[in-house]
Amino acid sequence: MGFIETIADTLKASTQRAPETAGDDGSTGAYWCDGCSERIRDVAVDDRGLDVDDEGTPRCPSCGEPMRFERTAGSGCAC
Ligand SMILES: [Zn+2]
Repeated sequence: MGFIETIADTLKASTQRAPETAGDDGSTGAYWCDGCSERIRDVAVDDRGLDVDDEGTPRCPSCGEPMRFERTAGSGCAC
């Protein structure tokens, strides 16, 4: 049969897709903490329950410093 295997392969393939590129989940980039090398996508800030300052900048869950936003270079053409 190979049917189950096919499903497993499909699932594996979908989870292996690179999360770095801007997808259709509304993500435009990620927040970084330079000190801890923490990286949290903008769309994941709410999920992680991070503290956010008045400007919407989340604080690093490890050290509490404001994080630096970095746009995803991915999908758009840079020319
Ligand atoms: Zn940190």
